[in-house]
Amino acid sequence: MPTKTQDTTVLHALFGGTFDPIHYGHLRPVEALAAEVGLSRVTLLPNHVPPHRPQPEANAQQRLKMVELAIADNPLFAVDDRELHRTTPSYTIETLEAIRKERGAQLPLAFIIGQDSLLSLHKWHRWQSLLDTCHLLVLARPGYNDRMDTQELQQWLEQHQVTDATQLSLKPQGYIYLADTPQLEISATEIRQRRHQGLNCDDLLPRSVQRYIELQGLYR
Ligand code: ATP
Repeated sequence: MPTKTQDTTVLHALFGGTFDPIHYGHLRPVEALAAEVGLSRVTLLPNHVPPHRPQPEANAQQRLKMVELAIADNPLFAVDDRELHRTTPSYTIETLEAIRKERGAQLPLAFIIGQDSLLSLHKWHRWQSLLDTCHLLVLARPGYNDRMDTQELQQWLEQHQVTDATQLSLKPQGYIYLADTPQLEISATEIRQRRHQGLNCDDLLPRSVQRYIELQGLYR
């Protein structure tokens, strides 16, 4: 009998991020997306940030812990910490190719990004290969253009876009789906800034994560 991860009729989704810290702007739209397209599992992939790039304020272990706390009571989510164990820079495409290899060529697989990430996707390493490994599910995000910056990129989007979510389970990869998810004006930058200023972050992230931030003295 096939195991759950080999079931080729179920769409599996991955969600990468720095998660410095994880917040409701990540969690709530992804929960809505799961209901919208029928996802039973979303695996969060905290990024390894290479040394030449601006470093997160929380270290890798703290970012992982915050993700674990945020998803502890929600069976929709799992975490995969493989990028955090790397000592060399990890590109999303390489992680996705490794996961694709592990899960087999037939499994419908999706990578979730926010609208801001879609707009800058052409700056990602080997960005055009992303659709050779997975579908892209895009979360609406307030304040970002809903058209791509150039005609060429807009055409690329339209060539791959599907509006019927059932299509996503019929092919292993290659589609882009723009989700109609709630628009939450929350960013990790804002949370770090509010903390620096001693302001309350109650409605922005789970209480368990807030408590951990307090205990670790993060973002002061
Ligand atoms: P920062 O403010 O530090 O840049 P962030 O809040 O954008 O961080 P990331 O961890 O960089 O969070 O984001 C991971 C993914 O989540 C990205 O694809 C991003 O587009 C998406 N995302 C983050 N916040 C939101 C939000 N409020 N709505 C929709 N997507 C979001």
